Amino acid sequence: MGRIIVVGTGFSGSILARKIAEECGRRVEVIEKRSHIGGNMYDEYDENGILIQRYGPHFLNTNKYFIIKFLKQYAELFPHNTKLLSYLDGQYIRLPFNFQSVQELLGAERAEIVINKLRTNFPGSDRVPILQIVDCPDKDVSDFGTLLFEKAFRTYTSKMWGTDINKIDKYVLERVPFAMNYDERYLNKDFQYLPKNGFTEIFRNMLDHEKISVHLETDALEHIEFKDKHVLYDGENVELLVFTGPIDELFDYKFGSLPYRSLDIRYEYSDEDSVLPAEIISFPQADGKTRSTEYRKIMFDESECKGSVVATEYPLWYDKNAEIGNIPYYPVVTEESNEMYEKYVAEARKYGNIVLCGRLAEFKYYNMDVCIEHALQKFEEIKERLK
Ligand SMILES: Cc1cc2nc3c(=O)[nH]c(=O)nc-3n(C[C@H](O)[C@H](O)[C@H](O)COP(=O)(O)OP(=O)(O)OC[C@H]3O[C@@H](n4cnc5c(N)ncnc54)[C@H](O)[C@@H]3O)c2cc1C
Repeated sequence: MGRIIVVGTGFSGSILARKIAEECGRRVEVIEKRSHIGGNMYDEYDENGILIQRYGPHFLNTNKYFIIKFLKQYAELFPHNTKLLSYLDGQYIRLPFNFQSVQELLGAERAEIVINKLRTNFPGSDRVPILQIVDCPDKDVSDFGTLLFEKAFRTYTSKMWGTDINKIDKYVLERVPFAMNYDERYLNKDFQYLPKNGFTEIFRNMLDHEKISVHLETDALEHIEFKDKHVLYDGENVELLVFTGPIDELFDYKFGSLPYRSLDIRYEYSDEDSVLPAEIISFPQADGKTRSTEYRKIMFDESECKGSVVATEYPLWYDKNAEIGNIPYYPVVTEESNEMYEKYVAEARKYGNIVLCGRLAEFKYYNMDVCIEHALQKFEEIKERLK
C-alpha cells in the first residue's frame, strides 16, 4: 500500500479524500495551493459580520434529494430561493425572464398576444431554452425571442465568455431558460438551499477526519513527476494521485493552454443596510461588468451585520501569471477546446495511478450538485482499485 494524494480541496477533492479515509480506512494527504480550503466555494465573514463568498455567489439547486442529505451530514442548511433582477433599458426586469418580463418589455396589450402564443407553442412546458423561442415558427413568438436574445443573452454571454455566442456550448445558453409562467425563482429546481454558516464549514467538517492531513499553500505541481507510466510525488511512486486542478497545467501545457474565464471581483461597502433591489442584479448592457451581489441579502441571520457590501464581477481571460485574473473559474467549452482537452485525457490514460476529477481536471461546466454526484461515482471506481 503506497501513499494516496488528493490535489485540491473543492468539492471534488474534499469528497474523495473523505470517502477514501472513511470507507477505505486509508490515510490521505490533501494538497491545496491556496491558503484556504473549499476551492472556488470558499466564503468568510468580513470585518462587518457579512458572509462573503470570495469567488462569486453560489447557490445549491438540485432535483436530487440525496445531494441535500449528503451535505446535511456536514452542515446545517436552510431553504433559500434565489431571486434575481436584470437591469435592461434603464429598468429592473425579473430574471429568469418570464411572463412578467414580457409585459415589462412589450406593454400589456402586445404581451397578451405573445403570452398566449407562447402557451400554445410550448404546451405543458415549465421552462423553455431561449433558442427554442428564437426558432419558434410563430413570428410573434420568435420576434420576442430575438428581442430578448439580442438585448440580454447575446450581450451578457459575449461579455461573460469573451467569445462569439455561436461558439459557446449550447448547454451554457440553456442554463437560464425562459419561465412559462410568473415563477420568480431563478431556477425551478426542487431543492434550493444555502448553508447557515457558509460553505467553508462544509469543507472544514468534510476534511476533519483522523486519516486526513491537509497541506495548504502547497503547489502539487512542484512535487509531481511522470516516469515510466507512473506519477511520482516527491520522487516516490504513489498508489493513487487524485488531481482536481487544471488538466493542461498538470501536463505543462504540452498540447496548448485550455481557455478559462476568470473574474475581477470589486467590492463596494455602504453604511446602508440595503443597497440593491435584489440579492443579485444582472447587467447585460453595461460596460465590462456582468452582475452585482449583495451578500447580506442571502445570509441566514444578518441581524449582527454592519452596513452592506456589493461585489461586482468583471469577467476576463484567465492568465496564470497575471495580477488580476489568475484563477481559473469557468472552462470555456468549444469544439476547439474540447479537442485539446481530449488530447490531455489520452495523455493521462498512459499513467496507471492517476484519477482526474472535477471542473478543472475534466474541463466541464459542472454545477455543484453534478460535481458532488460525479465525485461520489468516482469514489466507487476508486474503492474497487484500492481493494
Ligand atoms: C463564480 C462561480 C459561481 C458558481 N455558482 C454556482 C452555483 O450557484 N450553483 C452551483 O451549483 N454551482 C456553481 N458554481 C460551480 C461550482 O463552483 C463548482 O461545481 C465546484 O466548485 C467545483 O468544484 P471542484 O472541486 O471541481 O473545483 P474547484 O472548486 O475549482 O477546486 C479545485 C481546487 O484545486 C486546487 N488546485 C488547483 N491546482 C492545484 C495545484 N497545482 N496544487 C494544489 N492545489 C491545486 C485549487 O486551488 C482549488 O482549491 C459556480 C462556479 C463559479 C466559478
